[in-house]
Amino acid sequence: MHSWSSPVVPSVPGDGVPLRLFDTADGAVRDLSPGPLVRMYVCGITPYDTTHLGHAATYLTFDLVYRQLLDAGHAVHYVQNTTDVDDPLFERAERDGVDWRTLGDAETDRFRADMEALRILPPQQYVAATETIDEVIEMVDELLKRGHAYRIDPEVDGYSDVYYRHRATPEFGYESGYDDDEMAAAFAERGGDPDREGKEHPLDALLWRVRRPGEPSWDSPWGEGRPGWHIECSAIARRRLGMRFDIQGGGSDLAFPHHEFSAAHAEAASGERPFARFYVHAAMIGLDGVKMSKSLGNLVRVQTLRDQGVDPSLIRLGLAAGHYRTDRSWSVEILEAARARYQRWSRAIACGAGADADAAIAALRARMADDLDTPGALEAIDTWAAATLEGDSSDEDAGASVATALDALLGVRITAA
Ligand code: ZN
Repeated sequence: MHSWSSPVVPSVPGDGVPLRLFDTADGAVRDLSPGPLVRMYVCGITPYDTTHLGHAATYLTFDLVYRQLLDAGHAVHYVQNTTDVDDPLFERAERDGVDWRTLGDAETDRFRADMEALRILPPQQYVAATETIDEVIEMVDELLKRGHAYRIDPEVDGYSDVYYRHRATPEFGYESGYDDDEMAAAFAERGGDPDREGKEHPLDALLWRVRRPGEPSWDSPWGEGRPGWHIECSAIARRRLGMRFDIQGGGSDLAFPHHEFSAAHAEAASGERPFARFYVHAAMIGLDGVKMSKSLGNLVRVQTLRDQGVDPSLIRLGLAAGHYRTDRSWSVEILEAARARYQRWSRAIACGAGADADAAIAALRARMADDLDTPGALEAIDTWAAATLEGDSSDEDAGASVATALDALLGVRITAA
């Protein structure tokens, strides 16, 4: 599937700083210490509704990771999927009386347009679940052969679905760090089926769902059906990035069960571990202090803000005003603060000469390399802008240099006011 078009990332004079990131599995910030090529997989959308600010915050986080890695001289192999076979998509298509493929294609196009507007760096491989059914089948087969999976007895309800034994690997639970109670709660809440009759254990995860009437399906050795969700990402990432790739990313609500099982499936099938060296999670975005959710009807969509004429740079600056690992709220005040900051920076850049750009850029790099400390990075530029607007003109090319660094490292293009 085609990705979206990439913004140009200018190179910034001086040296990039090695990136440190918080790894959920370790519960600590560590040096990423990657090789020359960094391999990154980020879980994509289920294309049944338009991009909201929670999505934007997640993809912005990994765009910023990507930008710091480029600045530090790495190449990046970035893979993202789109879950274009899933229950919410079928339900929405049915409600709206459209074909699920048509809905999926239309929403994926809208997502691409939002990503381009936000200047999010695209994956080199943007992979639809429907393109990889054969890869999933191969992996389910491996898991069955190794004794890590089983089929539901057809006597139960006639559907002999394939399930994964959640304790197939002794390390299960290492990625999220959840205890049994937390796993049970999160599994029930986030798309699991603990009450499915015929399972050996409530936490066992669906690998292959045998076709139910009216559902799309593909041929397999276990009859027509479709893949479970976790095995999809597991197969796509493993095939393209191999085991022990550098970063598995997504929203914090994916830490369990999705990322735990994606990792476990690949580790059980390959006999190697870990799946990824770092598990990185972006926090949730609320609205005015309330969790943003479809059921509450308070989603703020990127498209809506764009339709209102909001410059996407302001969305980036507004989201970056908080740290990516902190659950936080969007509000009109945050948007207005981002606008005021943009205008201040813009006036400072327009001065041409200004305060020492090398020092400001070094501070920006140091903050971003420290687990993406965006609030600290924005403050470093605020300090530079304040000194420049107060008349410090010791650096002749300061405006142009800082503008280039903001474009490359924060993805924010400031036009001089
Ligand atoms: Zn995923």
